[in-house]
Amino acid sequence: SISAEKEFNLIGETFNYMADVIERATYEKRIAQESKQRLMMDLSHDLKTPITSIHGYAQALVEGRVEDKQRQKKYLFYIYNKSTQMTRLIQNMLELFKVDTPNFRPNVERKEIGEFLRERIADVYDDVERNALLLNFSVPDHEVYAQYDPELLGRVIQNLIANALLYNPAGTHLRVELVEDDQEVRIEIADTGIGIPKELWTTIFDPFVRGDQARTHTGGTGLGLAIALKNTEKMGGTLTLRSGDEESSIFTIHLKK
Ligand code: ADP
Repeated sequence: SISAEKEFNLIGETFNYMADVIERATYEKRIAQESKQRLMMDLSHDLKTPITSIHGYAQALVEGRVEDKQRQKKYLFYIYNKSTQMTRLIQNMLELFKVDTPNFRPNVERKEIGEFLRERIADVYDDVERNALLLNFSVPDHEVYAQYDPELLGRVIQNLIANALLYNPAGTHLRVELVEDDQEVRIEIADTGIGIPKELWTTIFDPFVRGDQARTHTGGTGLGLAIALKNTEKMGGTLTLRSGDEESSIFTIHLKK
């Protein structure tokens, strides 16, 4: 049996622990709320910009202020482009939120991953060729098992490769490699393109954070890496970024065995 003093201490410690947990919970909640608010502000801004131009071009057409057929066509083209951009943004946003809804259950199972990766690479092979990236793809010649959800992982790989295609000049290298060690299974997606400045490494996975050079590429939503990170974490994995000697961006998806 424990003495009254010990019991008292135990209660005290438990109380401290509880206080700590509660404080942490409210702190995390506050952070979560703040970032949700910022997210909504960013999203509203990114939706407002295209809708303002759509409205302007449509108004000019509706009011019959554009008589020249060529110019009418040009305005319609702008409207089409801007609305495509908005659709992409909304789809990405829904994708980012979907995995956090209470009903969402990731379908994570331990299964063979080499063949799955081969298929994903086959899916993007034409795009890689079109962009004249030199692909270096390797998987071990034995079966590799990892814990993953094919749909979530498929999107992670797709987003990382889409970025490599978008941000890297023709003739640069793209390496996709499946590696297994005692601890984990890794998919490395590395390129020798423009790289990501070190000061952006911690924030680049946040929604709407884009590099300066990326701003000239219209069509991006700034959500690709945020989705990739969230999907990876939903599978119990992690997603990291580093630079190598010869390679400028190395994204690594770490999965449990
Ligand atoms: P988006 O590509 O739509 O801008 P992402 O979240 O996918 O959004 O990427 C965020 C930013 O990270 C990009 O704007 C770009 O600056 C940078 N980036 C991502 N992948 C690469 C890459 N492979 N090489 C260079 N820069 C990259």
